[in-house]
Amino acid sequence: MQNEAKTRKRQGNRVVLAPTMGFLHEGHLALIREGRRRGDVLVVSIFVNPVQFGPNEDYEQYPRDFEKDREMVQKEGADILFAPEPFEMYPEGFGTSVNVDSLSRCLCGISRPGHFQGVATVLVKLFNIVKPDVAVFGEKDYQQLLIVRRLAADLNFDMEIVGFPTVREEDGLALSSRNSYLTKDERVSAQSICQSLKKAQILVDCGINDSETIIKSATEIIGSRPEAKIDYISLCDPVTLQEVKTIDRPVLLAIAVKIGKTRLIDNMLLHP
Ligand code: AMP
Repeated sequence: MQNEAKTRKRQGNRVVLAPTMGFLHEGHLALIREGRRRGDVLVVSIFVNPVQFGPNEDYEQYPRDFEKDREMVQKEGADILFAPEPFEMYPEGFGTSVNVDSLSRCLCGISRPGHFQGVATVLVKLFNIVKPDVAVFGEKDYQQLLIVRRLAADLNFDMEIVGFPTVREEDGLALSSRNSYLTKDERVSAQSICQSLKKAQILVDCGINDSETIIKSATEIIGSRPEAKIDYISLCDPVTLQEVKTIDRPVLLAIAVKIGKTRLIDNMLLHP
């Protein structure tokens, strides 16, 4: 991959990277299409990164279907599918990790210690292997997007980081590979996440601007579902992720919920 990247760049091509963990859905495909538009050589990576999963998380169960993914990536006109094995990415003796401290301590970082360190480490590796001019990331994983922007700036990666809006099902549920874990009843419950986000904007439109009321409303909507266990509902600054008390400018409403055994995240920027 490194040699291929070097050759393509030497030929004057603009290289785009779309990193994924596979089990591709329409959200990934939209991201890949965005990548296709932004350069000459499109590299899609598929790697279920073991170091970003905690010991009691779903690394082993994470859904995988390489052949189907391969066909989808090819159909979207990607030039290179890069799918390394864990032993190639983390050979014996591997000892380095990257930590974007400032942005990793809050939100998902609290219930998933070490997660963003694993994400940042694998992304730095992917950036060094693929040497992209552009990398595309979904806004669904908003905290991850901020972390990758921070790390690219801090570590002087000479590349553009593109954020892409969340692709949703018709009923509003954000597409996610993990949605495949949901039972029929859980799938219905999962709607409550997006419903609570939409309700929040309606409340803001009605002139409500205190975080407490917005969070209470979201907690009630999601909490009314028996299978739902809220991890966090947070109103925070969209740049620093620090909690905010008043919605007097665009503010991020970020939510993480466990529906049964499935952990789902979603977010929306609320505009006063
Ligand atoms: P994943 O395979 O879940 O690690 O996701 C790979 C990339 O696709 C990440 O940049 C995600 O933010 C992005 N992504 C995942 N789901 C969606 C979605 N529903 N809409 C847009 N982008 C997404």
